[in-house]
Amino acid sequence: MEPFETTETMEREELRELQLERLRALLPRVRDAVPTYRGRWEEAGVDVDAIAALDDLARLPFTRKADLRDTYPFGLFAVPPEQVARIHGSSGTTGKPTIVGYTGEDLDLFATMVARCLVMAGARPGMKLHNAYGYGLFTGGLGLHGGAERLGMTVVPVSGGMTERQVTLIEDLRPDVICVTPTYALTLCQAFRERGVAPEEISLRYAVLGAEPWTEAMREEIDAGLGVRATNIYGLSEIIGPGVSGECVEARHGSHLNEDHFLAEIVDPETGAPLGPGEEGVLVITTLTKQALPLVRYWTGDITSLDETPCACGRTLARMATIAGRTDDMLIVRGVNVYPTQVATLLGEVAGLTSNYRLVLRRGATMDEVEVEVEAREGTDRHTQDMASHLARLIKETIGCSMTVAVLDPGALPRSDGGKVVRVLDQRGEPTALADQA
Ligand code: ADP
Ligand code: ZN
Repeated sequence: MEPFETTETMEREELRELQLERLRALLPRVRDAVPTYRGRWEEAGVDVDAIAALDDLARLPFTRKADLRDTYPFGLFAVPPEQVARIHGSSGTTGKPTIVGYTGEDLDLFATMVARCLVMAGARPGMKLHNAYGYGLFTGGLGLHGGAERLGMTVVPVSGGMTERQVTLIEDLRPDVICVTPTYALTLCQAFRERGVAPEEISLRYAVLGAEPWTEAMREEIDAGLGVRATNIYGLSEIIGPGVSGECVEARHGSHLNEDHFLAEIVDPETGAPLGPGEEGVLVITTLTKQALPLVRYWTGDITSLDETPCACGRTLARMATIAGRTDDMLIVRGVNVYPTQVATLLGEVAGLTSNYRLVLRRGATMDEVEVEVEAREGTDRHTQDMASHLARLIKETIGCSMTVAVLDPGALPRSDGGKVVRVLDQRGEPTALADQA
């Protein structure tokens, strides 16, 4: 392994010292620059100059997406407007988009974090990158672009969409690495198949996939379909964008969190109480070094757990498990809490289905109903009815509630063209107890 930076392999004790030192510089700066934080901390009765240990952080209140919306667009910024070098926005998956900003120094950090994740994924200087993440306000396109340039790669800034052109460019330019959302990677697999191009003829060796949840079954399909080793990259615009964590190609078992810049906590989704390594809860992040929009105890809403045990790649940065769901997406179906990703994970166990799916919420006669729409795989010899009852049984046994399953024809469900796919279609009109959009 050749890490991009030495902090990736620091002793954990030393890392914690660095985090504390950075935290102690951050908190007074945020207090002095951002009235919202100052007011809240006063209200909570916490003197941030007295924070002497990482555990003391738990005395401070969480920052939530609503705080960014309430102070939209620039209320939580900690630098004067003329120091902001770039603006990005969230994709707006869960409501009105939020705006985030970067100083020149922040852009530098962003590029360095992404470069790290690219190295983890197998990319090296001199390799060619096909960047199929959307460019624009979305952090994916420009984020990967900056990181790849920082690493010294040749970047092809394709952006999303126009699948035929994507395929032609990959055939002609012969890139080594592709960055793309996992669902669009599947669309590309299919496009190559339809063109009669075999995976071993495709130049790509590594795929860096993120921006939305994906499963091991999808990984197998993408590895095989594009002839790559696919790894995960995770992030959110509020924290910086992609580059918060990334999976190493050596282990492909959890995404290394860039903890020297992003201090992570896992907390109980209901009570907010801190949880230990291995325990599943909400990921809460404090940006230790960001300038324009530092966030303290930001509630990502993403459910995961942390693994601090040593990794085969030699990095000491803790590894984040696959996102099990997002608190905003949680549905309550007949009293059972369900994340759409739980259904996604089961699709790989039913032979003959693709990994594409959608949950449709409808009003039933006595209670609300969830129908899972899935697709039959091209050329499968299993009966639609068999596959439907197989999946319905798995859902009942593992998730604990009943959903009806509709197996559609191959290609019937909408596909991603580089952005995030909508997995839940709510056809109920007025909200009810079924979907608790907290
Ligand atoms: P929005 O909140 O509008 O979707 P972002 O574009 O910043 O805005 O998306 C960040 C969110 O996307 C994360 O909080 C997470 O829920 C999801 N996400 C990003 N990368 C991954 C990934 N690799 N795996 C699972 N979910 C991811
Ligand atoms: Zn590793």
